[in-house]
Amino acid sequence: MGEREVKKVKRRVTRNARDHALEGSPTGRRRFGWKGADKKLGRPTNKYLHPEESKVLREALDLALKGKSWATIVRHFGKSGLTPVRGGKWATTPIQYMLTNPALCGYRMLHGELILDRETGDPKVGDWETICTPEEWHKLIGRCSTWFNLDGSETAYTRYRQKVKTQGKKNYRELADATRRFLLTNILRCGYIDDDGNLCGAKMKGMGPSGTNKHERYRCGDPHCNRVSRRADLVDKAIEIVVIKVLTTQYSAAEPEDKKWYGEESLTKLRARRQEIKESYKSGIFSLAEYLEFKDANDAQISESEDDRKKFYAEQAAQNFLSGFSEEKWHNEYDMRQKRKAVATVLSAVIVHPLPKGRAKSAQFDPELLEPIYKAKSTK
Ligand SMILES: [Zn+2]
Repeated sequence: MGEREVKKVKRRVTRNARDHALEGSPTGRRRFGWKGADKKLGRPTNKYLHPEESKVLREALDLALKGKSWATIVRHFGKSGLTPVRGGKWATTPIQYMLTNPALCGYRMLHGELILDRETGDPKVGDWETICTPEEWHKLIGRCSTWFNLDGSETAYTRYRQKVKTQGKKNYRELADATRRFLLTNILRCGYIDDDGNLCGAKMKGMGPSGTNKHERYRCGDPHCNRVSRRADLVDKAIEIVVIKVLTTQYSAAEPEDKKWYGEESLTKLRARRQEIKESYKSGIFSLAEYLEFKDANDAQISESEDDRKKFYAEQAAQNFLSGFSEEKWHNEYDMRQKRKAVATVLSAVIVHPLPKGRAKSAQFDPELLEPIYKAKSTK
């Protein structure tokens, strides 16, 4: 095939996808959660929900809305006994794509943009059964905004991909494993003070048992100091007590907010305006220069507004995650990621002071040697 031929085919494929998207008809290869095509029954692909798969998908979505970690969500798919559409094992990235797919609420996206209705300027709602409401989908996008930016700009996710590329997957995984097991890796600071009175202040690292140490430990991460270490389980327990106390005072009576973003209506108007501007140019009311000027201003307002919505739902989710806090929730509902997040809302650091001179390393654990540094807001 000549190059021109290839281009033509490509264009045809794009146009097909675009036309289908505009019509809002289900297309593409089968998505997990929906039934595939059946010629005998005249059933198109991705129109009707698959009962077992859509149930698991909805449960996973609820976990994501509750702020559960991706590891927890991946495990949920694993436990379901169902397999991905293309076979193989469940993995984080494809699940993240699945749970942020606008098709979940009937929307469609092409080249990173939602397909909008030409008349109303609202997102086009497709002709298939859905898993969630548009509000829920926006909330999920809010939650995932550190992983996905729909405009394709840099995100934690792209930075992670870059890191994996440069450091090699294995190294990065080891690093992630090392921090995953320990609750206080980013909070604990070495409290060693040298003869000139300088505090070491290095972050402490979690490490497994080794040599005579039969327990996991936190140890000063600065190789030039390395002078303070403490049993991890005992430090975690002592700090947990402090954090649970503060969170109970602050959040046990708080109700979760479920507000709709205040700008929905004006965003709809801005989108309708986008259409008007286009029409005005087409019908000769605007010159090309005017058209471009109005278009740029309108585009900027729309993207500002969309960013605002994302931020709104992300903040709401962050606040809701602690509302109705209880000790029971901490122990039974929070996973490691949520516990870390909760600790970080209360404490900015904990200084681990060295054992006083003359005290034996085998002496009983002394919580008085842990000095919590509270975040400004939390010192009630
Ligand atoms: Zn140190």
